[in-house]
Amino acid sequence: MASRSVKNTNSAVCVSRRKTATVTSKKTAKFQSSLKALRILDRQGPLAQSHVAQDLGVTPPAALSHFRKLGKEGLVVAVDKKFSNGRGRPLELWDIDRSRNFTIGLVISPPELIIAMADFADNIVLQQDHDVSEVETCDKIEAIIDAFIVEAVDYVAKSDYSLRFACACLSGPVNMPIMPQINIEGLFNRHNISAVRTTLTIASLFGEARRFPAESTVCVVDWDFGIGVIPCCGDRVLYGNESQAYMVYNKRKVCDFGHQRIVKAGRKCPCGNRGCLEAYAGGRAVIQQLNRPDIHSLSDLRRAAKNGDSEVLRELALAAHYMGSALSQFVLLMGIDKIVVTGPLSDIFPLFRDSFNAGLEDYLQKEEVQSLEASASPNPVGLMVTGSCRAARHLFLHSDLPLDLTLLSKTIMTGY
Ligand SMILES: [Zn+2]
Repeated sequence: MASRSVKNTNSAVCVSRRKTATVTSKKTAKFQSSLKALRILDRQGPLAQSHVAQDLGVTPPAALSHFRKLGKEGLVVAVDKKFSNGRGRPLELWDIDRSRNFTIGLVISPPELIIAMADFADNIVLQQDHDVSEVETCDKIEAIIDAFIVEAVDYVAKSDYSLRFACACLSGPVNMPIMPQINIEGLFNRHNISAVRTTLTIASLFGEARRFPAESTVCVVDWDFGIGVIPCCGDRVLYGNESQAYMVYNKRKVCDFGHQRIVKAGRKCPCGNRGCLEAYAGGRAVIQQLNRPDIHSLSDLRRAAKNGDSEVLRELALAAHYMGSALSQFVLLMGIDKIVVTGPLSDIFPLFRDSFNAGLEDYLQKEEVQSLEASASPNPVGLMVTGSCRAARHLFLHSDLPLDLTLLSKTIMTGY
């Protein structure tokens, strides 16, 4: 285990330990009824009190009382006085306090473990990258996370900032068998910070979504050992992807794009069913299909594809075609505007874009396929890190809703 690179903007600062961090997750009850006002400011601020009142359907003084409550908690600030035209009184503008509130995002995508703290303006202020490929026990991972939390708590304490929430985005136990045993919630709760564990796809989603206009519907495709697909509009998830995490929280089967059947009584899938998309287009399926002694991992696949290995190119092109084909009706159903491919295989996606687009043409016109502009993420890992911090912020801003992951897919219906 080696710390590969450490970006730590705080390392030279002497930190007073006398102050305790304002970790407010346990105190959200005080301002839960004002979170809707906070969400409006988060999306559109700075805004005048009358504007927020209108959006909330309340009187301006009622909006002001929300601001005062949120201001007392360090969540909003009066930012500016804008003079209304003519002789009217100056308008006070309010905004969510983006520079004094923070979240922690954790991404474990072996061999990488990246943990970061970002403010509400998406600026990362602390980050550590670790190589955990050799790690076999939970305590080493937990020690890395705990050390970071201590540093983060010190950082917020010294300036009386607030650390609001944490979100851990983890790959499945297939990639790291000890993953389910890592006590993520316990590590954060010890420091009085609420934390949620979820999948890497959520990190990708929240990372990629911000690259597109908030009003466009973007389909994020995670091309990994399996396939994850989540369409979103801004930070609103339109369709949940089943995963171990969703199964745990929902106690019911939600639709899962990667395990939709594309061949009746087809290939066996690790999920236990037959004919799933993943069994044809996921990285694991491609490796199994090739059945070659030199190709065991996704990096072997990537390397062979980049070297122009014709057998590998053919198999991956077929996989991309299956993916496009499975997406073609979904694009119509969900009203998808753009497609972005992320995950460990995304950097070779441009080699198979034509096959992917040919699959999309199953149900779409050529012009429709072109306008989707299917592309690879420019920075899958970096955007996952920002995305995990943003997912944490999203969960905090929705903590007036039941705290389970279903809220991610329900936010579209709850007026955000
Ligand atoms: Zn399956």
